[in-house]
Amino acid sequence: MRQETKCIQAGYVPGNGEPRMIPIIQSTTFKYDTSEDMGKLFDLEAPGYFYTRLQNPTNDMVAAKIAALEGGSAAMLTSSGQAASFFSVFNLAGAGDHVISSASIYGGTYNLFNVTMRRMGIEFTFVDPDCSDEELEAAFRPNTKAVFGETIANPALTVFDIERFANAAHAHGVPLIVDNTFATPINCRPIEWGADIVTHSTTKYMDGHDTGVGGCIVDSGKFDWMAHADKFPGLTTPDESYHGITYAEKFGLEGAYITKATAQLMRDLGSIQAPMNAFFLNLGLESLAVRMQRHCENAQKVAEYLESHEKIAWVQYPGLPSNKYYELARKYMPNGTCGVISFGVKGGRAAAEEFMKHLKVGIIATHVADAHTCVLHPASSTHRQLSDEELVAAGVGPDLVRFSVGIENVDDILEDLAQALACV
Ligand SMILES: *Cc1c(COP(=O)(O)O)cnc(C)c1O
Repeated sequence: MRQETKCIQAGYVPGNGEPRMIPIIQSTTFKYDTSEDMGKLFDLEAPGYFYTRLQNPTNDMVAAKIAALEGGSAAMLTSSGQAASFFSVFNLAGAGDHVISSASIYGGTYNLFNVTMRRMGIEFTFVDPDCSDEELEAAFRPNTKAVFGETIANPALTVFDIERFANAAHAHGVPLIVDNTFATPINCRPIEWGADIVTHSTTKYMDGHDTGVGGCIVDSGKFDWMAHADKFPGLTTPDESYHGITYAEKFGLEGAYITKATAQLMRDLGSIQAPMNAFFLNLGLESLAVRMQRHCENAQKVAEYLESHEKIAWVQYPGLPSNKYYELARKYMPNGTCGVISFGVKGGRAAAEEFMKHLKVGIIATHVADAHTCVLHPASSTHRQLSDEELVAAGVGPDLVRFSVGIENVDDILEDLAQALACV
């Protein structure tokens, strides 16, 4: 099946007389005839469900669709993108371990790594995604367990050189984890470029309609844990909390990583997506391919319009030939990047605020990447505690406007921009 077909059909094949839509299995628990039947589930001897804190059939069908879209071997849904980022790393690294991350990542992920996971004893080195090979090489340590980056970074819109980082990670015997939220598997499939694990905030384009917060982790099934057994004892030695199962032995390349994340992390932390939210996510996925195409067409026109506008100081969009990441974007995302653009209005902070006040189609919201055009001025909202100097240092200048182009008629969006800019 091609991507457009997978959006509709992958993950669930109804049997004779069964519902066409992935049904919502709104049940915390599941019934068994004998204790032995249930015991086999707890021993991971037989597949099946026993408690929705760990696994739910609705979630698994939707996760299987995302796995098919990404070309992975297994996947799990999480309660949020944050939970997906956390699980993806914590499934491999613990206290005393080290992880390399691109410095150009979502602010929430940066905090998770730099503050909360550091408190758990995991060290992080942040590298510029455009760093030299020597700088990247120098970041690796004997206890490095993974490398992390974002296909198109939110909100910096830098493009991550997946192949280059995958080669570096593999040369050191560790996997590459890629947050593919902004590109989605419609525009980029990181596994084809060497990524081993792919994460998503499904809250964004996948859900696409502002309905449910959620996340997903996809395993490529390609990383050979046993070949680097000393680095990943959690996967390659017996788990005493699960009757001495060795995940990499019992579930092989294709199943070990997600089974461990389910059996240990979901069991202990319970960051599961509600089946109802998984149902809404599936509705969003059905139209993902057509929506992404429209998002990219609209954003391209908006970016070109802004670039030629006399009141605009600068525009950052990887689909513009003038953009620093244009060539990299064409390599990894030949059909389009995403619908998010950042730009500066001449006149700085005051001009940005004035401009936004007059938008009618574009609504002011902290959200990005969904059907509705929305706009955010980080300097007066998410980053308002920072001084102008600190804002510049954080790469989010006082004039920066983050504009998430929706799938409305693009002429309405362009006219809205024109009238709002005329007020500045
Ligand atoms: C929003 C976002 C996250 C966090 O996801 P939530 O669903 O809000 O927890 C992670 N990565 C990227 C790229 C995001 O845009």
